[in-house]
This record gives sequence, C-alpha cells and structure tokens, in this order.
Amino acid sequence: MIGGGSFTIVFIKSMVQILKDHIILTNKKSGSTNKLCYCKACYNKYGEDHPELKTIVDKTERILTHFKNCPNFADVYSQEEKEEIFSLATQKKTVLSKKPSKFFFFLLIFI
Ligand SMILES: [Zn+2]
Repeated sequence: MIGGGSFTIVFIKSMVQILKDHIILTNKKSGSTNKLCYCKACYNKYGEDHPELKTIVDKTERILTHFKNCPNFADVYSQEEKEEIFSLATQKKTVLSKKPSKFFFFLLIFI
C-alpha cells in the first residue's frame, strides 16, 4: 500500500507547490500562528506597501478564495493555468475527505 500512499503525497505536494508559485510569502503573521502571503499577481501589479495589496492567510482555502475573486490573477494567468489550479484544489478536497488522519501525519513529514 506504500506505493499508492506515496502517489497521493506527491500529488498533494505538487498542489502546494503550484500554489506557492502564485503567491509571495511574507514574514508577517496573522495572530500568533497564521503566516501571511501576497497574491503574486497583486504584488506584481501594485508593489509592496501599496494599500490595495492585501495580505492573505497562508492557507490553501484562503489563497484559492482570493485567486477566484482576484481580477489581477484573472488577468495574468491563462484560462488553462487557472483551470489547472482550481481543478487541483477540487481534487485535493476529494482526496483528503477519503483519507484518515494518518494521512496528515505523512503529509507534514513530507513537506
Ligand atoms: Zn490577487
């Protein structure tokens, strides 16, 4: 069963990697635990310290929500790229819902 498990982990890793390609990580934090990031498309358009540049909590759901509503993101990336990102996100939900909590343990180690 290790083979199947590995495949899933690599797949999730690539999802995280794809998201990371579209955000800019910051040293800022929301509260004491949540890291904050910028949407790369917004960052490139406005530049740092611009009032329109909003920080996003560095969580897949929050980042995807921003991407879905972000006109800059929509401008910069092609329809194909957007579909890839959003379809991966949908698949991730499906995968996670089928896996027991042990899966998260593996995921933490891998990343
Ligand atoms: Zn944005």
